[in-house]
Amino acid sequence: MKSKSIRKEDVNPNLLIYGKRLKDMNYTVQELSEILGVSQRYIREYLIMRKGAPVQPKANLKGKVYVNGRQLYEWAVEFHQKKLEKKAENALKENEFLCCRCRGHVIPDHFTIEISASGVPFRKAVCPCCGAVINRYIKDKE
Ligand SMILES: [Zn+2]
Repeated sequence: MKSKSIRKEDVNPNLLIYGKRLKDMNYTVQELSEILGVSQRYIREYLIMRKGAPVQPKANLKGKVYVNGRQLYEWAVEFHQKKLEKKAENALKENEFLCCRCRGHVIPDHFTIEISASGVPFRKAVCPCCGAVINRYIKDKE
């Protein structure tokens, strides 16, 4: 089976396109499957079980899983956004930073090494284009 269009690590694009139709109410997996044009298995096994898409607390009542449509859509958008940022971050060259405000790669004049609250070192600089504070985590290999 070919599926070059769907990257395993990202959400199915249908969620972002048809997800806008979802209302702030509960849907069954079957209903979502019909609205979004994705399989029930994809919703159940991939989105909910593997990726932690939000389900309603009384999820297993009568064996049915209920999902709030609006919550699912917002979750999918956020999930997708994070993947895009991750991808952009991974594509950075040695001296580049990612500026969220400029939405692109920038090269600051200098940076400082700081330690985050959780003890992870990162480089901190100021965006030469817009002046925003920009951070870049230091990978193990560096
Ligand atoms: Zn900037």
